[in-house]
Amino acid sequence: MSSANEEPAKKRPKHDYKDTITVLVGHERTPYMVHKTVFCTQSPFFQTATNGNYWLEAKEKTVSVPEATEDTFEAYIHWAYTSAIDLSTAPKATASHKHADWDIITRLWILADMLMDEQLCNGLTDLMLTKFDEDYYCMHPATLCTIWEQTSAESQLRKVCIDIMSCTSWENIEADATKLPQEFLIEFMRRYFENEEHMVGRQGLHRYKKCRYHVHRDSTKCGS
Ligand SMILES: [Zn+2]
Repeated sequence: MSSANEEPAKKRPKHDYKDTITVLVGHERTPYMVHKTVFCTQSPFFQTATNGNYWLEAKEKTVSVPEATEDTFEAYIHWAYTSAIDLSTAPKATASHKHADWDIITRLWILADMLMDEQLCNGLTDLMLTKFDEDYYCMHPATLCTIWEQTSAESQLRKVCIDIMSCTSWENIEADATKLPQEFLIEFMRRYFENEEHMVGRQGLHRYKKCRYHVHRDSTKCGS
């Protein structure tokens, strides 16, 4: 048993703050210099990408992440260094605040999944469930289009989005039907009619544990 004084040191891995890598983000290849051990501790993707066998640009010490965008990657940097989710990079000027938050949360989830960062995926999922509790607000069709374009059929992100949307009212879906991806509509209809109790609203999701929507490929189920 360790004393309370020892705990912070135990939780925080020892990082080498002299060893940096450059991450080239997006198709513009915007460079971000980050600490290698911080990113490798958090992300199996970076562990593999900086491993000698895969380290294609060893001299430059660079890793390309063309799928990421600057706003999501900056949110990821904040997470990697602080273990806190920061949504301030959401483009609040172009959409309502609530829509912009859903947009950055789901795009960050997709990036976290690509970086194999289960802890962040699951933190974002919990955040979505809490937000739905507080806001009871629909995701914008453009956000759903991005999700259905960038994830596979087995994605846990799709699963939580379908359940959230199936707890909102049918009128919301009908009004946006022409803007929604067809695959989403089919999955939504299947889930909506399966939802025999037709529990609309926040309580609809409380039937399930959050872990139902988590990613636990490498970790054991948390059961939360
Ligand atoms: Zn879990």
